[in-house]
Amino acid sequence: MSVERVDTVVVGAGVVGLAVARALAQRGHEVLVLEAATAIGTGTSSRNSEVIHAGLYYPTGSLKARLCVQGRERLYDYCAERGLGHRRCGKLIAATDEAQVAALRALQAQALANGVGDVQWLDGAQARELEPQLRAVAGLLSPSTGIVDSHALMLSLLGDAEAAGAMLALASPVLSGRVTAQGIELQVGGEQPMALLAQRVVNSAGHGAPALAGRIQGLAPQHVPRAWACKGHYFSLRGRSPFARLVYPLHDAAGLGVHLTLDLGGQARFGPDTQWLDDADPATFDYRVDESRIPAFEAAIRRYWPALPDGALAPAYTGVRPKISGPGQPAADFRIDAAAQHGVPGLVNLFGIESPGLTACLALAEHVAAQV
Ligand SMILES: Cc1cc2nc3c(=O)[nH]c(=O)nc-3n(C[C@H](O)[C@H](O)[C@H](O)COP(=O)(O)OP(=O)(O)OC[C@H]3O[C@@H](n4cnc5c(N)ncnc54)[C@H](O)[C@@H]3O)c2cc1C
Repeated sequence: MSVERVDTVVVGAGVVGLAVARALAQRGHEVLVLEAATAIGTGTSSRNSEVIHAGLYYPTGSLKARLCVQGRERLYDYCAERGLGHRRCGKLIAATDEAQVAALRALQAQALANGVGDVQWLDGAQARELEPQLRAVAGLLSPSTGIVDSHALMLSLLGDAEAAGAMLALASPVLSGRVTAQGIELQVGGEQPMALLAQRVVNSAGHGAPALAGRIQGLAPQHVPRAWACKGHYFSLRGRSPFARLVYPLHDAAGLGVHLTLDLGGQARFGPDTQWLDDADPATFDYRVDESRIPAFEAAIRRYWPALPDGALAPAYTGVRPKISGPGQPAADFRIDAAAQHGVPGLVNLFGIESPGLTACLALAEHVAAQV
């Protein structure tokens, strides 16, 4: 098989891979995006809450905190400039009893330390004034949280990348790689298997990123983290949303708690919960909604919305968080490994790009472009 030469390959056409391809193409690189599926954005990028996060939760100085805060404003500007569906609707985090107030105060302090200066403390009455159906003894209002049409965003990123000369190859799974003196040689499967010699490779394969990194000969195994997968279910609310803003309970170690988000049509949905999966291989994921979870959802929701009627939840969809820290471990930061970390020139691996990866996609892309 002949070996085609290419300047830069981006593996994965999720929202992050597309944003990276756009940033690199706009900087003058010749970019080829290789995507295993037959369409863009069929992985985690189409199975999430579509929330533009403000950046409240993450440890100060972490990539998640910095890239979320930077990425959020870039994303609002980009959506406004391109006319992409989005709304800065705000979010209210509720402490439902006195025992949670200290944790809510800690979250307020974390937000301020992260540079999210617009959060507002509310007592129970102020919270109910904004959201009369909410049960809360205190609340934290985040005005810069919002929602975005992630599919429109991905189409726009792809359009920009292609306008700057990038090419997209669908149904083109990258099977393996080998580090050579001339560049990184990639074996690509699909109907027309090919071998490519790339000067730069950005591994933005989401759940597939650790496994692919493990199949790159010449990358030392200690630079490949263990992958974990944590599933989340969503149920939509039959009927009108009782809330005008996003409503969140206090978060836990694995996720942000069963919260209420709104789509751009105003439809409310609840989720995601947390279910650690035994196998992190995306080929084994079962995306079906397990309806036996409804009672647990109802109990979690009634802590902050006691008036939830019986039978109001309808199965919606599920998503799986691509994690690099397991149950009981502290949540890992985004991990972006370039030559400085692993010693392979031209290779950038993106690991653990869970939430807030959608919010941060434009800032993540700039960060990666700077490494390349
Ligand atoms: C339940 C849930 C809720 C979330 N909510 C939010 C939220 O509200 N706000 C927010 O900011 N973020 C949220 N996120 C995170 C966000 O969805 C992700 O960070 C983001 O979508 C990751 O994009 P990606 O491009 O890295 O990965 P993906 O979208 O998974 O894309 C990776 C792509 O790589 C392809 N691929 C894999 N292996 C190969 C290979 N070997 N060769 C070629 N292609 C390959 C896959 O087919 C896939 O298309 C949430 C995530 C989950 C799971």
